[in-house]
Amino acid sequence: MSFVDYLQALPTERLKLAQYSATSADVERALSSCEGSLSGLMALLSPAAEPYLESMAQRAAQLTRQRFGATIGMYLPLYLSNLCANECDYCGFSMGNKLKRKRLNLEELRQEIAIIKRRGFDSLLLVSGEHETKVGIDYFVSMLPEVKRHFSFVAMEVQPLSEDGYRCLVSHGLDAVMLYQETYNPQVYRQHHTRGNKQDFAYRLASAERIARAGVDKIGLGVLFGLDDWRFDALLMGHHLHYLEHQHWRSRYSISLPRLRPCTGGVQPKVALSDKGLVQIICAFRLFNPQLEISLSTREPAALRDHLYRLGITHISAGSSTEPGGYAHPQTQLDQFEIADNRSVEQVVDALKAQGLTPVWKDWEAGWINQSP
Ligand code: SF4
Repeated sequence: MSFVDYLQALPTERLKLAQYSATSADVERALSSCEGSLSGLMALLSPAAEPYLESMAQRAAQLTRQRFGATIGMYLPLYLSNLCANECDYCGFSMGNKLKRKRLNLEELRQEIAIIKRRGFDSLLLVSGEHETKVGIDYFVSMLPEVKRHFSFVAMEVQPLSEDGYRCLVSHGLDAVMLYQETYNPQVYRQHHTRGNKQDFAYRLASAERIARAGVDKIGLGVLFGLDDWRFDALLMGHHLHYLEHQHWRSRYSISLPRLRPCTGGVQPKVALSDKGLVQIICAFRLFNPQLEISLSTREPAALRDHLYRLGITHISAGSSTEPGGYAHPQTQLDQFEIADNRSVEQVVDALKAQGLTPVWKDWEAGWINQSP
């Protein structure tokens, strides 16, 4: 059964009701043993878990240090292009937004790489808008080898590709793919994605399985919190993660927890996720899955980021630009969203060290790729 079929068969209304009816006893049971338990995750994400946030945070911090040590993985996004053939009403790159469009050429890519390398990063996230013809597989193949010459770990956050497309990129050095569903509610998804290939909810939902079958080392899932009920969207992301870990156990998994940020022509959050709610999600997922990587971008403000490192976050970006060519030529008119943590890399590293955490610049090498089972 594919995850698309799995989600269709899930009695979502009944599940949502059960989540909102969870009791203190359910939460206490989950606190003592939640690993791998979807009902435990449901309880920890429920309103009934709010009074237990302190206990959840202590347990999450302990599990995180036990599994990951006193370290935080560092990565940086490099925006290849802001061209996009989709309309997503929460994103500055939406096709209808009047902004200067750009796609990096090889020389511009080299300039960005030189700056990022000088800042110490060895793990890179390549990002682009979703434009099949102008920023498609041929373009990625032309840029990836240059990137891979300089970075030991290369992730991509681009439009969903075919299984062969992913396989081709793996052969050129791709290590990880981040592909966020935005919301697991098909009706809400339809309201926010009004034009372009991204309207196809099911194709996007099935992408993680194609990515895993293509032999990608790490797969990132994510929800854009603010589009729909965050408790239930987070729970469905947990179901997706659980499904993938059982079906495609050779890949590693990570999650991102972005909240809606202001952007050019963007919408305001319909269902705002508070800082407290964000903490609850991080802790719930850590208790559910101690080995899960959880990343946090510069969308969140400095003070909050510094507080969250200890709870369950394993990977962060720092000194990010969200515009193509933005490291060499910052312009602030081509951004995907506004950055809330504007500190330099050095300032973020100092903040980590002040908490006894060591920044790690290199991600794992995907040793098993191209090996037979
Ligand atoms: S979220 Fe992605 S697909 Fe949607 S407009 Fe922005 S860049 Fe394009």
